[in-house]
Amino acid sequence: MSQLPTFSMLIDGKLVQAANTLPVTNPATGQVFANAPDASPAELDLAVDAARRAFPAWRETPLARRAELLAKFGQVLAANIPVLQGLLTQEQGKTLSDAATEVGIASFWSQAVAAMPIPETVNEDNETRFSVTKHVPLGVVAAIVPWNFPLGVAIWKLAPALLTGNTLVLKPSPYTPLATLKMGEIARDVFPPGVLNIISGGDQLGPQMTEHPGFDKVSFTGSTATGRRVMQSAAATLKRLTLELGGNDAAIVRPDVDVVEVAPKLFWSAFANSGQICIATKRLYIHNDIYDELSAAIAEVARGVKVGDGSDESVQLGPVQNRVQYDRVVDLITDCKKNGLRFLTGGEVDESADGNFIPISLVDNPPDDSRVVAEEAFGPLLPLLRYTDDDEVVRRANDTPYGLAGSVWSRDIKAAAELAERLDTGTVWINECQYIVPNAVFAGHKQSGIGVEHGVEGLLEFTVPRTIVRPAV
Ligand code: NAD
Repeated sequence: MSQLPTFSMLIDGKLVQAANTLPVTNPATGQVFANAPDASPAELDLAVDAARRAFPAWRETPLARRAELLAKFGQVLAANIPVLQGLLTQEQGKTLSDAATEVGIASFWSQAVAAMPIPETVNEDNETRFSVTKHVPLGVVAAIVPWNFPLGVAIWKLAPALLTGNTLVLKPSPYTPLATLKMGEIARDVFPPGVLNIISGGDQLGPQMTEHPGFDKVSFTGSTATGRRVMQSAAATLKRLTLELGGNDAAIVRPDVDVVEVAPKLFWSAFANSGQICIATKRLYIHNDIYDELSAAIAEVARGVKVGDGSDESVQLGPVQNRVQYDRVVDLITDCKKNGLRFLTGGEVDESADGNFIPISLVDNPPDDSRVVAEEAFGPLLPLLRYTDDDEVVRRANDTPYGLAGSVWSRDIKAAAELAERLDTGTVWINECQYIVPNAVFAGHKQSGIGVEHGVEGLLEFTVPRTIVRPAV
């Protein structure tokens, strides 16, 4: 019998085991190191039922009290960084330092959202009539999370859903359920029973949630392909939807940059978390005048970065999180080779290694229609592309079904800002990347998403407006 540690789900304020379990693999070693509950449809029903029963009282709980509990939840996370950090590194592969940062951000985010106001609009206030629009909660929310930032992305849903008065059933990815389940265990007493439920399960559980008639909304982060399926299945009961999906973000580097200064920044904009970030730089357009110098400088940075097991403190980048994703990236590398493309670094994968390790791979100016440019790699693989003028690079950067984010790099901030205005994406950064804060709205254009997260607009996605019109008194 297995002696592996097992974890519990949080349902109705109680820690619950499932009849079946799922093995959880450490991507750095290929070894199964724990078991997570594999929720059955009956256990999903229990979680939805608990959330439904908790909803009326939670909705009536004053906003100030809900905010107080959410802030307390954030404090509990901060007090438990070591345990959550260790689990994140083991299950996700990221370095210990990145794992601590993720828990820290989850803590900060809960507390920041707790301080946000829910706006009301007075539409009319005169001698005859008073009209006000308030934003009331939807009911029970299903939160479905990917494996790249298990806690970070979970909190992006948990905090606004609970602050606005909804109750929640949260499901982590089957690849990375443990830190999320542990979070439920250590914070199980913070909210009243049933307000926050956390369940885990295999591939069947996500579709069972999106089809379940007991949910009023699905907040989903994951790939565009899965997003389409979520939308289809939510149609049956017209659930509200927020879909944060894939991206193929362009970084555009103008010829006036300081090459030495920007090379490491551009490198990390693409390769942090081993490239497994929705808003990572995934196509790097470099002006022809500096292409050779800057690509050599980025390759030099890449050669100095240590890839390995994230639990080794000298390691800077961990493995790819799971074998399916690893195979996808290896397939793109193989396709590059088949088409005679040149690698500036990397490109040779030791497929006999135990962990999902792929060397940092930079592809030298592949054609725009190559798969490495057109597809989201979501791993340590980046195409570097030459361009010669603004109109051309804007056209090429926008020539994608995605529209999540992007960045422009230049000493001339005004020129960079003008270029930023021409990118069809929800966010554009200038001379930085991946800066996301609780009070600025985050949205995917085109097939990168539907709806928004963060900012007041993100809060309101968990509500429905109610306008009350009454005689003046
Ligand atoms: P995924 O779509 O495979 O899975 C995401 C989640 O959906 C998991 O919890 C999974 O179990 C669940 N799921 C799978 N099939 C489902 C279905 N039919 N119905 C309901 N749920 C289902 O994505 P992933 O591989 O875990 O994550 C990587 C992708 O996520 C990348 O494309 C990345 O760009 C994207 N992502 C986007 C953002 C954003 O904010 N836009 C953030 C992080 C990741």
